Amino acid sequence: MPVYEYRCPDCGAVFSKMRPMSQADAPVECERCGKRNARRMLSRIAPVRREDGAGASAGGGCAGCSSANCSTCGR
Ligand SMILES: [Zn+2]
Repeated sequence: MPVYEYRCPDCGAVFSKMRPMSQADAPVECERCGKRNARRMLSRIAPVRREDGAGASAGGGCAGCSSANCSTCGR
């Protein structure tokens, strides 16, 4: 199984997990706080780092915008 990197928007923890490819984008349980909000980081190259990461995921826009980047929603 491939290893993916995940980041928890609640506590900011970044960790990697081995998952089947079919579940790569499903939320996973955070290793630090236990919430199931951690999202896959799409790239190891210069991930977008925000102080609290509220809803933002690297390369995937956020919950508040429908396009692929957050330039349309002000984040
Ligand atoms: Zn967490």
